[in-house]
Amino acid sequence: MGAQIIDGKAFAGVVREKVAGHVSRLKQVHGVTPGLAVVLVGEDPASQVYVRSKGKQTVETGMNSYEHRLDASTGEGELLDLIAQLNADPAVHGILVQLPLPAHLDEDLVINAIAPEKDVDGFHISNVGLLATGQKAMVPCTPLGCLMMLRDHHGNLSGMNAVVVGRSNIVGKPMAQLLLRDSCTVTIAHSRTKEIEEVTRRADIVVAAVGRPEMVTGDWIRPGATVIDVGINRIDAPEKGQGKTRLVGDCHFESCAEVAGAITPVPGGVGPMTIACLLANTVTACCRMHGLSEPEGLTA
Ligand code: NDP
Repeated sequence: MGAQIIDGKAFAGVVREKVAGHVSRLKQVHGVTPGLAVVLVGEDPASQVYVRSKGKQTVETGMNSYEHRLDASTGEGELLDLIAQLNADPAVHGILVQLPLPAHLDEDLVINAIAPEKDVDGFHISNVGLLATGQKAMVPCTPLGCLMMLRDHHGNLSGMNAVVVGRSNIVGKPMAQLLLRDSCTVTIAHSRTKEIEEVTRRADIVVAAVGRPEMVTGDWIRPGATVIDVGINRIDAPEKGQGKTRLVGDCHFESCAEVAGAITPVPGGVGPMTIACLLANTVTACCRMHGLSEPEGLTA
């Protein structure tokens, strides 16, 4: 293996420390405690794990955590009423509605009901537009985490060729916007891209966000390139015993690591950075709301 491992777990710890430092200053100097409200509708097991982890880390960094767990049968009106209440609550600086929502609820309608300045997931249509036009936005957490790791590794990204594989609204598109903002030459590849390996082999930076286990292999990567693997896929692992599973990314780690200059592992890469960036966004939202200077190194 030739590649340097970009340790997202360790880097997330650094981000959390920075967040905790800002929170402490906000409390001591300005008498403000940032607050994050997380809304979970239903009992999806993976969502429950995420929500628990978000709440725990919010409290650990000194912020207030408000959890709202609603029954799976909750109607749109009731959910929208709760969001209106949180929008109006001065103790709440960030609002996150855990996705996916049960099928009877309209996700776009619900997300766009969140006050844009409290939309710490960065999914509100206003934040999407602000990011696309290079203005101050709340930036989606996963791509923000990828950008932080890339900036930390490379310093300046200007002029680099970046290929983002995947064009989803939550990862691929905002990732491409952020790289463009940092003056990369950006290509977005997707399921209809022709000769995709040729496209990725031209890249200095490959960000894989496809949701297909180990799809990107070493022969897709230019020697020395940086590989950011966003994918989280659970696959069978018979070598660990019957019925056992393991987590893999969208990149085949071993073969990519042979060729790449640097690579994020799965687990321990992008995943931990996502929650760290949610905390960072909550502090940023709080500072903006109170007209205070933004925390350095925690925004796009
Ligand atoms: P989506 O399913 O919304 O999007 C996947 C994208 O990949 C689509 O744009 C699709 O193209 C493209 N794609 C699918 N198959 C291929 C293929 N064979 N060749 C090229 N492109 C392809 O996924 P998300 O963006 O939500 O998530 C992507 C991955 O990231 C998943 O593994 C998910 O679990 C993970 N993830 C991880 C997070 C973290 O915190 N680490 C957070 C969010 C997601 P098309 O548009 O043409 O269909």
